Amino acid sequence: MTVVNTISEVRKIVKQWKREGMTVGLVPTMGYLHEGHQSLIRAACENDKVVVSIFLNPMQFGPDEDLASYPRDIQRDKTKCMEAGADLIFAPDPEEMYCDNFQSYVDVDLLTKELCGLTRPCHFRGVCTVVTKLFNIVTPDRAYFGQKDAQQLAVIKRMTEDLNMDIEIIGCPIVREKDGLAKSSRNTYLSDEERKAALVLSQAVKLGENMVNNGEKDCEKVISAMTDIINSEPLARIDYVKITSLLTMQQVKHIDEPVLAAVAVYIGRTRLIDNFSFNQI
Ligand code: AMP
Repeated sequence: MTVVNTISEVRKIVKQWKREGMTVGLVPTMGYLHEGHQSLIRAACENDKVVVSIFLNPMQFGPDEDLASYPRDIQRDKTKCMEAGADLIFAPDPEEMYCDNFQSYVDVDLLTKELCGLTRPCHFRGVCTVVTKLFNIVTPDRAYFGQKDAQQLAVIKRMTEDLNMDIEIIGCPIVREKDGLAKSSRNTYLSDEERKAALVLSQAVKLGENMVNNGEKDCEKVISAMTDIINSEPLARIDYVKITSLLTMQQVKHIDEPVLAAVAVYIGRTRLIDNFSFNQI
């Protein structure tokens, strides 16, 4: 496995692969990798070559968010990538990705207005801009994103379709800890007490999913049951508990189309997200 830090090195390697007729899968990450990221890398092994980008993208963090404290460990990341079967890590510095005079952005409109877009107004602009840049640099055939960030997955799918990017977007299931907590690099922020408290997210998601699977169509009832579980935990503070159309990300009242039920909850100072989607109507 090779690790490179510059755009020109990635381009050189990928061009050679393409000359040899090989397909390329890309897994964009912010590093501090865990089994969730590894599941994406393993899925990407359906391509001849797998590139993992490790880039803590300043543009997708708000001024009061955790950019400075976000965990980093490139040595550990290399081991995780190797274990999962990656061929190349692209780990650029912010200066390599954003020149001093940078002024071009990619915005997706309606889909980014709800859910995380409300609390994190510049987040998706940062995500779409960096993902577009990574697509232009790596020119993958397929790119892999986790269902854990369901809104991000929907936004990236919309962007690739709207802008005619010739890249297949593959969504991968949420990987969880044994007790149900969705794996996240941010889980490392949690104290022991907060780690226990964080279980309310997956418990709420599981309850909501069971209700919907058992035929409940009234979103208010599902949201209220999910909210009650989260509010029963004193360390938890709800950012949102919502059910939206999977297609538009706008809130719905009745489940008569594919939906996303998503939660964002602060456990202490750490903001965590979880969700389930329901496609069968
Ligand atoms: P991040 O490094 O947090 O930006 O995540 C990089 C990619 O890994 C994104 O597509 C995430 O959705 C995905 N991912 C993160 N956590 C998980 C998880 N627990 N299960 C599946 N995919 C995940």
